[in-house]
Amino acid sequence: MADPKFTKGPWRPLLNGAEDTSVASPGGIIADVRCIDDYPSHEQVDANATLIAASPTLYEALQRICGDFRGTIKANHKPGCDCNYCFAIAALERAEGSSS
Ligand SMILES: [Zn+2]
Repeated sequence: MADPKFTKGPWRPLLNGAEDTSVASPGGIIADVRCIDDYPSHEQVDANATLIAASPTLYEALQRICGDFRGTIKANHKPGCDCNYCFAIAALERAEGSSS
């Protein structure tokens, strides 16, 4: 399996309770998270940055759970299957940009 194209983690949120914050990788800032016209709240800006920063770890967790069985799962489950594995594989594909 190819390495993901996204910036290598770990990522961390730079929380400050203000209307703008950032998410940093070891190499520098990878995302700005903003409140524009009072949306979302400053609390949600920090929560969104925290969620974004967790993305590489969440991606790796799903890879560890499904990675070795991904082909087998896809081969043995019908499109539209609602099981947890198919949901996890769909999330991985979405993160990889191979599904919308
Ligand atoms: Zn399934």
